[in-house]
Amino acid sequence: MPTLFTKIINREIPAEIIYEDSHVVAFKDIQPQAPVHVLIVPRQEVVSIAELPEEGDHRHLLNAAKKIAEQLGLSSFRLVINTGPDAGQTVFHLHMHLLGGDQLGHFGVPGFGES
Ligand code: 5GP
Repeated sequence: MPTLFTKIINREIPAEIIYEDSHVVAFKDIQPQAPVHVLIVPRQEVVSIAELPEEGDHRHLLNAAKKIAEQLGLSSFRLVINTGPDAGQTVFHLHMHLLGGDQLGHFGVPGFGES
């Protein structure tokens, strides 16, 4: 059963694809959390970082992030990979969020670290 993101990659579900190469496809998040919110998804179906095969070549995700940031004229941005439900992962096909386009709030557990 293909994942939601594989269906997007295969153009079975529409999305605003902004970048693709032989390893990854990147498209705009349907519920953006910042002016720029792009999902960078490996074509290979890997559930999450926790399931990443050690022999895989996953620098393609970072290479794509760099190219997309350049393409969008972003000098500051944040890359996030939610891994597992407690970290907010809702789609179980590895993906990296690229967020930017404005001053970003800090991350972490709300209120944690405040005295
Ligand atoms: P996660 O919560 O797993 O880290 O990220 C999944 C992301 O996928 C969420 O930010 C969510 O808004 C996005 N998303 C879920 N369904 C769709 C969809 O059908 N199209 C697009 N473009 N993004 C989606």
